[in-house]
Order: sequence, then structure tokens, then C-alpha cells
Amino acid sequence: MALTTATAVINLSALKHNLAQIKALAPTSKVLAVLKANAYGHGLERIAQALFSEQSEDTNNGDCSVKADAIAVARIDEALALRSSGITQPIVLLEGFFDNEDLSIIAAHNLQTVVHNQQQLDAILVAKLTLPLKVWLKIDTGMHRLGINPEQFSYFYQQLNASKNVQEGIILMSHLGCADDKVSESTAAQISLFESITQGCEEERTLANSAGVCVWPTSHYQWIRPGLLLYGISPLPFEKTVIKTSNDVQPVMTLKSSLIAVRELAAGESVGYGNAWQSKENTVIGIVAIGYGDGYPRHAKNGTPVLVNERRVPLVGRVSMDMITVDLGINAKDQVGDVVTLWGEQLSVAEIAQCATTIPYELLCNITRRVQITLSA
Ligand SMILES: *Cc1c(COP(=O)(O)O)cnc(C)c1O
Repeated sequence: MALTTATAVINLSALKHNLAQIKALAPTSKVLAVLKANAYGHGLERIAQALFSEQSEDTNNGDCSVKADAIAVARIDEALALRSSGITQPIVLLEGFFDNEDLSIIAAHNLQTVVHNQQQLDAILVAKLTLPLKVWLKIDTGMHRLGINPEQFSYFYQQLNASKNVQEGIILMSHLGCADDKVSESTAAQISLFESITQGCEEERTLANSAGVCVWPTSHYQWIRPGLLLYGISPLPFEKTVIKTSNDVQPVMTLKSSLIAVRELAAGESVGYGNAWQSKENTVIGIVAIGYGDGYPRHAKNGTPVLVNERRVPLVGRVSMDMITVDLGINAKDQVGDVVTLWGEQLSVAEIAQCATTIPYELLCNITRRVQITLSA
């Protein structure tokens, strides 16, 4: 007996396919592929290599010649891991540096940094660097998270532009807070504010995340910054009708495990911790080797769909650390060892996220270390 334990199967040709779809949506923009948080749980180095390679394992799915233009991460350690794995392409630190000492590391490893506050500007101006840095200047256009205020723009731009520590070609950047809302007035306002602040400045610009790529063509500019969409998940709310283009992506991760027990349950008996679910009738339940210790959401409600032998069956009872229980139904023929799909192909992680009152981003990032990562054949 050799059962599949919790495994994230990664489909690199789906990744390439998604990249091609994204490029088709924004044909004149370069792609800054967002790989923070272990490439949204997909495995940082493997995803980076695939995004820059000529070929993927399987060439019958997607255009394998498409490549990303640069990678974005959130922490310097993520960037250094990429450099150690041999990635030589441009890497951008989306939040910039957190420690002035990091500037020499950034220069030595040829990383690019966002500048979003006065402390970062001051550190750059006084640093003793052997090579000038490539800088992305972040402006707050209404999300009020990171970025300098609009009225600080000319000062920051002039200071950076005049510094011998900064390369020519400062990229101007902002971030959209509500781009997944197709009728959002605040997105329209952010785009027009960004436009007016940066008007007349002959620099490249970037504004769009995945949702911007899908629904706000005027946010595309010279660089788009897709994350979720690369991994084959629509950034638009699951319950809303998704636009065709975001349906054309394919999930890169399929999370699987297997049935490790199949048992009969009489009407009125309950399952799992706290007796949280009781069967109304005689049935057969399946025990699946995956739980919150693997990253399956503990708050997934009763009825959350699980795929057993291509059939949607409901999750019942509480999610445990290492196991979940599903109601296979009285006539079930499923057996120990049968493969179970938790999300991915045939079952969107967005639907599971909705059942757990969270977002697909969180579920993907929560995949834990004990989940095996394998490449799809
Ligand atoms: C994470 C992030 C993105 C990517 O967002 P998605 O919604 O996953 O496309 C883009 N830009 C910035 C600044 C980010 O932090």
C-alpha cells in the first residue's frame, strides 16, 4: 500500500499558458511577475525558472516561448533565494528595504528597490554604493497603505533623479485598492490621479495588479504586475460572473490527497471533534489525509465541496490537523487509496475560499511545508 499524502501538483504548462493569456490582455506591457510568499505557495524557485525558460515539461498546452520580464517579491530573503538558485533576471523588492544595511546587498545582487518613504530616500541619498540602484518610486493614489503623498512626488523624483546612487529610468508606481470591483469609482479616481501626478514625466509607469489587468485597461501602462492570475485564479469575486478573459486561465496548483479510511455511519451518529456534524441517515463517510496542518482551511464549513473519484461530495464535521471527513453517501463504492482533490483542476480554490470565508490568496499561501510539491506529468 502506498497512498498519496497531501500533495500540491504544479502544472508548469498551465503557468506558461496563463502568462500568454495575460500578455494577450496587455499586449504592449512588460510583465513584472509577482512571486512573493513562495510564489503564492507554488514554490518560488521552480516558478521563477519556468517563467524565464524557453520550454516547459509539456508543450501541448500554452505558448512556451512567452517569458516574464522581471520578478517581484516582498522580502529581500526571497530575492536572495532566487539569486542563489541562479535566477539572473531583474528582481524588484515591492516594499523596498527595511534596513539601511540592505542597500549594499541590494547593489551587490543587482536587485531593484521600491522607494515609498522618506527613510528610504534618505538612506539612498547618503549611501556609499559602487553601482547605482534601479528604483521604483511608489506614490499613494488613494489606497493609503504604501507610497509617498502626491504633493511629495516632485521632491522625491528630483532628489532620486539627481542622486549618483540612482540609475536613470526611475519607474513610477502606484497600487489599486479596489480593482476587483468593475464599477469602482475609487479605481477610476486612482487611475486619473496617477495620470495627473505623473503627466509630463518621461518615465515608465506601473499600476495594475491581476484585477487591473483583467478589468482596467487604462491601468496597464508599460509594466503590469500580475500575481494571482499567473497561478490561474481569477482575481474577481467568485460569486460575480467572471469576465471571459479571466476564465481562460488554468489553475497551476491542484491539491490532492487520498482516502485513508472508509466507514459506515448510522443515522444519528456524529463525526469528528465536538460532534459538530451528525448524519441524518445511514451513510458512508470517507476520511481524507489532509487537514489544517497542511493548509486546508479549518473554517471550511459543512458542505464545502471535495472531489472523490470525480464526484463532488460534502465536507462534514470539523477539519482536524491531519484529516477531514466527507460524506460519500450510502451507495459509495469509493475505496481506501482513492485520490481526493481539494482544489485545482475541476474545483476552484476560489470556491473553497468562499466556503471558508476567506480569499484564494490566503489558501494558497497557507500550504505548509509537509505538503509535497510535485510537477504534473
Ligand atoms: C501582491 C502585489 C501584486 C499582485 O497582486 P495580485 O492581486 O496577486 O495580482 C501587485 N502589486 C503589488 C504592489 C503587490 O503587493
